[in-house]
Amino acid sequence: MNIDNVRQYLKSLSLPDFRTRQIIKNYFSGRFDNFVAMSDLPLALRNDLDARFPLLSVTESTLLVSEDSKKAALRLHDGLHIESVLMDYGEWTTACISTQVGCPLACTFCATGKMGLKRNLTVEEIIDQIIFWKNKSFPTRVDRIVFMGMGEPFLNWDNLLEALKIINNKDYLNIGSRKISISTAGIAPKIIDFANLNTEINLALSLHSADQKVRDLLMPISKSFSLIDLKKALDYYTHKTNRQVMLEYILIDQQNDRPEDIKLIKQFIGSNFLFHVNIIPLNPVKGGLIPSTRQAEFTQDLDKAGIPFTVRRSIGRSINSACGQLITQI
Ligand code: SF4
Repeated sequence: MNIDNVRQYLKSLSLPDFRTRQIIKNYFSGRFDNFVAMSDLPLALRNDLDARFPLLSVTESTLLVSEDSKKAALRLHDGLHIESVLMDYGEWTTACISTQVGCPLACTFCATGKMGLKRNLTVEEIIDQIIFWKNKSFPTRVDRIVFMGMGEPFLNWDNLLEALKIINNKDYLNIGSRKISISTAGIAPKIIDFANLNTEINLALSLHSADQKVRDLLMPISKSFSLIDLKKALDYYTHKTNRQVMLEYILIDQQNDRPEDIKLIKQFIGSNFLFHVNIIPLNPVKGGLIPSTRQAEFTQDLDKAGIPFTVRRSIGRSINSACGQLITQI
């Protein structure tokens, strides 16, 4: 729902302001997936709005459900599809949101990267994934948001920023900055721009190797923005915001799980105590890379080297909704 369009239309009907507020509140509540169901509005208005605007810009195409996550393929107005995920951590739920249809960055461990880029998502298409999950899981709330779905969020910068304002706005989705995380593959200039926003939104970098040659192979974007560029940008970020940065690290057999990789990670971190490594077991992707068999040794070595780290719990593997597994055929 493009809020401005609906607002303008209601204005043209000379409806009182409280009606607009009521409709917007209903929309963001996630209780509805169409206008007709909004029984606190006059029936004629509901039918009229329903005929003019779809409430959501995404429609469910398929929905897969596992014990700890849900994955939806969502159809967009032009027939393209994206995937979006809701993860259940027991005490809270996290929606993993896509920002692009496909992705241009072609990371070798990622199914989305094999699709190429079809287009950026609009602000509504980003927000409506959250409304969709609120509606699907009602009355459970969507508590946290991670921009780790399809696409590189920093390559859809303007729409991302607009969406963040709506997510944050107390009258709209009202999700606090500290409950939102953005993961980038390493668009160094945008990390600087992000630092300059002075926001409390969390930042994660998909590091995956601190060896320039290996990273170039795993993540082609690394040839445009080297580890040196990223280190400078991240040091600027932590200096400016005093906030922690998550360094995402998928463990891949014999590529980035070697003893020398510990030394390289330590070198990359240097004296920056705000870096935290997030170890992610590799999720299988058809024709993809092989998961490391050295996770226990690797984490022991991280520990010995005094590198702060966490091993991330993998959610949603059984329905291919885990990290790097999102892909649509259309
Ligand atoms: S890991 Fe992220 S940046 Fe890399 S191809 Fe996949 S979606 Fe794009």
